[in-house]
Amino acid sequence: MGKVPYIKFAKNCVTDLMDTQNELESIYPIHEYENWFYNQATGLLTFSTGDDELNFKYVNVGSFSKKFNTWKWSWDNEHTLSKVKDDILHVKEFGEKHGYEKLTGGYFASSEHEAWEFTAITAKLMKGIGAYRPTSEHLLIFMVLTEFVDNETAKDIKDLYVECDKHEYRRRAFVCSHLMAREEVGFEEAFDTYENMELYDDDYQAWCNECEKIRRREDGWNKKSMEFADIRVVCEKCYFEMKEINLGYK
Ligand SMILES: [Zn+2]
Ligand SMILES: [Zn+2]
Repeated sequence: MGKVPYIKFAKNCVTDLMDTQNELESIYPIHEYENWFYNQATGLLTFSTGDDELNFKYVNVGSFSKKFNTWKWSWDNEHTLSKVKDDILHVKEFGEKHGYEKLTGGYFASSEHEAWEFTAITAKLMKGIGAYRPTSEHLLIFMVLTEFVDNETAKDIKDLYVECDKHEYRRRAFVCSHLMAREEVGFEEAFDTYENMELYDDDYQAWCNECEKIRRREDGWNKKSMEFADIRVVCEKCYFEMKEINLGYK
């Protein structure tokens, strides 16, 4: 394969993104919705007017600061959650392979025009279906839409998350009421867990030693053992805080 200069490659990607974007907007009139909302935890970008919703999966490419005229790739941004930035590392790897320095530096002086090039390149490499660029104060946030999500699926995804007073919006987890005291009461889990693991159809579930005794006596979870456990919903971060408190406890 011959070496394509970066400028030419970027330009081709921008042209392709324009076509992709036209196609997207001919199917989904995203600009006709009154509100937009993105959530890093669920990885969903939602457009809405009243109850009418349109959802997409998205990745966060990076952000351009109008104040400092700088670009920051999302993989270089500690405030961006892994759900929406991990895939962007493929773009970095691609840049390393082809010697495209703009794709490998995390944070540098740039322009809004270049930011669109980075977005177009990301869309190309990730087979994105379009792009969106919301603003947050002086920051322009560049996103690539990767997939349309029907309303039922979007609801199922959103149901897996909870709003926590301490940790904002996170994956939900289930614990027995005794763990809520955040004391050493033992920590039995439905399966071995670690933070940010991919859960698929499972949920984090944990209960204390006392609950475990009753669960065994009752030969599993039934009305009696469930009543004693009095299961509560917490966020993933809280779950791992409780796990840490109990680590090493026998
Ligand atoms: Zn318990
Ligand atoms: Zn929490």
